[in-house]
Amino acid sequence: KAKSRGRDKYVLYDSSMVTELAQRTNLEKRLREAYRNSEFILHYQPQIAAESGRIVGIEALIRWNSTSYGLIFPGEFITVAEEMGLINEIGKWVIESSFAFAQSLMDKGICVSCNVSSMQLKQSSFVEDVIEAFDRFGLRKGSVALEITESCLVESFGDTYAKLAELRAHGIMIYLDDFGTGYSSLNYMKNLPIDVLKIDKSFIDNITADGVEGRIVKTIVSLAREIGLKVIAEGVEAKEQQTYLTACGCNAIQGYLFSRPVPEAEIRDLI
Ligand code: C2E
Ligand code: MG
Ligand code: MG
Ligand code: MG
Repeated sequence: KAKSRGRDKYVLYDSSMVTELAQRTNLEKRLREAYRNSEFILHYQPQIAAESGRIVGIEALIRWNSTSYGLIFPGEFITVAEEMGLINEIGKWVIESSFAFAQSLMDKGICVSCNVSSMQLKQSSFVEDVIEAFDRFGLRKGSVALEITESCLVESFGDTYAKLAELRAHGIMIYLDDFGTGYSSLNYMKNLPIDVLKIDKSFIDNITADGVEGRIVKTIVSLAREIGLKVIAEGVEAKEQQTYLTACGCNAIQGYLFSRPVPEAEIRDLI
């Protein structure tokens, strides 16, 4: 990587960079084909109410079901899809598909959420498109949510806030994903146009009642509830984590403890 060599201007390229570029070009080409051939699928992971144990939410997570490479996880391709601009098309498909799924679950008291890249939010037609789809599927307040990350809020403050506020006013819930890994500050938390905080897995992994993560999670939950937000903990794998999070007042819990993300038929069985 020439870039990581900093100011060493004599190194223009080396063989590993050529290989990387070749792979990168290949990946971009494959991703375009994958989109054209409808090789993307959604898996669904339940979010369980801490108190009742009921499924109150379901997160849609994209996978690439490649004929040549098998099942590929988003960590392998979302960044490239963003850099090549394809994320807007893919993201639109994700919204359509998860809204259609939400429509099939209406009256079950389950909110279907999907992940939205900051690039999608920057598109001028984003709010209009989402509202159009929401109305077309006949969805109601609380049937769907968009999961955004803190980077969306930091990158273009005023504009993004207005867009999120408009979506919320129309009944589309906004979840702040991976909370605690970005630029979280108490000052910006108080006026956020969001409904739910999702506490990042990195805090959940190491929680014990007397350890620092445990105390941080407890503080985040009480603060969030103080300002009217709900809290979902992500990456819950152990029963003790669930017990602690429930005692802290966490609203819902998502993680392998209950279920991995699964195909549509399996999540319907779980419901
Ligand atoms: P995320 O939105 O924070 O999703 C949670 C990730 O944690 C998922 O990984 C999920 O499978 C995983 N997970 C859930 N519970 C557990 C657990 O108990 N233990 C462990 N080890 N992991 C758990 P996944 O599906 O690989 O997705 C990774 C990230 O890719 C997502 O993080 C999200 O940022 C992004 N992503 C997924 N689908 C989409 C999409 O449709 N559009 C966009 N733009 N990004 C997406
Ligand atoms: Mg998410
Ligand atoms: Mg997350
Ligand atoms: Mg994440």
